[in-house]
Amino acid sequence: MDCIFCNIVQKNTPAAVVYEDDLAIAFKDINPKAPTHLLIVPKEHLTSLAHAVPEQKELLGHLLLVVQMLAQEKNLPGFKTIINTGKEGGQVVDHLHLHLLAGHKFNEV
Ligand code: AMP
Ligand code: ZN
Repeated sequence: MDCIFCNIVQKNTPAAVVYEDDLAIAFKDINPKAPTHLLIVPKEHLTSLAHAVPEQKELLGHLLLVVQMLAQEKNLPGFKTIINTGKEGGQVVDHLHLHLLAGHKFNEV
């Protein structure tokens, strides 16, 4: 399996996991861009948001609610959520992931 995030899901690659349920796993970004930088990842391999299908509507909603739950758990007063899609969109790891960033003042979009 050459997908780094599938390997993390399967515990073949170590990660600083902060949350896990049947559908999703969340862990600390290895190269944090902010004091809080978590990645929220579906356990099933989904290459990107561009590859999602209507049947994954609940999964996609679930990922956002995991972001909300983690932000509440950490008492974050505000946070930024980013999904990079495709090489042109800045996506480097081809397994859908939501970035949860906090602790900086984010001025740009
Ligand atoms: P993206 O550019 O949206 O594809 O973001 C990929 C993110 O994954 C980057 O912020 C990387 O620092 C992070 N990353 C890559 N490999 C790992 C890993 N093994 N554990 C944790 N985060 C990782
Ligand atoms: Zn994968």
